[in-house]
Amino acid sequence: RLLMNDKRSSGKRKLSDAALVSSSSSSSSTSPAEPAEPAIKTSKPAMTAATAASKGPVQFGWQNGLKSAMQADRQALFSDDVCVIIADKYPKARHHYLVLPKRQIDSLAQLQRSDASMLKRMLAAAESFIAEKNLLPKSFRFGFHAVPSMSQLHMHVVSQDFVSTCLKTKKHWLSFTTDFFLDCSLLLQLLESADSSQVASTVEEPRQHPQQHLISSGRLGIRGSGPSASLAIDRAWFSSLTKAGELKCNQCARVAKNMPDLKAHLAGHERT
Ligand code: AMP
Ligand code: ZN
Repeated sequence: RLLMNDKRSSGKRKLSDAALVSSSSSSSSTSPAEPAEPAIKTSKPAMTAATAASKGPVQFGWQNGLKSAMQADRQALFSDDVCVIIADKYPKARHHYLVLPKRQIDSLAQLQRSDASMLKRMLAAAESFIAEKNLLPKSFRFGFHAVPSMSQLHMHVVSQDFVSTCLKTKKHWLSFTTDFFLDCSLLLQLLESADSSQVASTVEEPRQHPQQHLISSGRLGIRGSGPSASLAIDRAWFSSLTKAGELKCNQCARVAKNMPDLKAHLAGHERT
């Protein structure tokens, strides 16, 4: 039974050190997400002298595939002084991009309060990118997997049709449609809050974020104080969200029997 359902009793709950993993933990050590996209090649990417100097050494291994991709100039669809936008190599929807900060930040748990402005720039870049393509921002979600499989912080920019041959497994589906997918706007709200108990205290207010319950239940919070206070994420609980659950459509109330059924159903939404 999920603690997050009990808002009244959990609203003021403090984050438990035992349950939460701080920024010192590796994002990849216990990741539930399979590395099993088609095996990721580790061939050396094309890199200019300028990018090599500014972005550090290329790291190999499938968990570092995004670092290599963002350092390969030819793969960038957008780049400024703060971030890079690349296409997701195994898109789970018709439109699926990743926004990566240029500064090395291995994982979500390393995000600090002082990174809020960077996150805002990443979100603004993503929204402009979508708008320039004449796509509607409201048909997208902008967010992060709570326990990512790939190293280097990356924000998913994903259209909500989920029509793609790369969407194959139940874990794929659950990772994009349950609270495992954390909206960027929620993280911004948390990083910019005066303190985590203050965010929790807003739980009964009418205009709360749809994922506010994650904060009030203590699954997501802030560890420490001051600008270097960082996100605290209950990794074990978030990971459990991708291991079991119904194949509930993200656009209507239907629950699919299996992945082929879900994919046919999602294709049907596109036709109507
Ligand atoms: P996650 O770490 O769970 O947030 O997801 C990592 C994302 O990176 C997935 O959506 C993959 O499809 C995508 N991906 C994996 N390797 C690459 C690559 N080399 N270039 C671009 N996207 C990738
Ligand atoms: Zn549906």
